[in-house]
Amino acid sequence: MDHKLHPIVRVDADLRSATVELHGCLTLPATTALVSILSKGRSLNPNLALRLDLSHARHIDEDCLMTLHLRKEVAGSERSVDADVDALIDRLGPVKVTLPQAWPVCPVEKAFAASRRRELGV
Ligand SMILES: [Zn+2]
Repeated sequence: MDHKLHPIVRVDADLRSATVELHGCLTLPATTALVSILSKGRSLNPNLALRLDLSHARHIDEDCLMTLHLRKEVAGSERSVDADVDALIDRLGPVKVTLPQAWPVCPVEKAFAASRRRELGV
């Protein structure tokens, strides 16, 4: 099993809005790919209403939040519902970001931790 980015991109036929829905793992290398996908969306129309939906993500590395300038929006907050925040991402301009209700723990990390415990006989 590996960390994989599974973005679903939806673009309106009139090119006025686009949503990137993330279903995989948001790691640092994946963040670069994600920003590149978002920037392709932005290149369709400079005034495009761009949305990034992280509420279905399998796993999000906290370092990625810094890269996406989302850290202060999520710091220490336990949200009861999925929350929308307005972010300004470098070279992309305004992006509406839907954050998950709780930070998901990656199944890859869980499997790795379990195998380490078995190795150590804990
Ligand atoms: Zn993962």
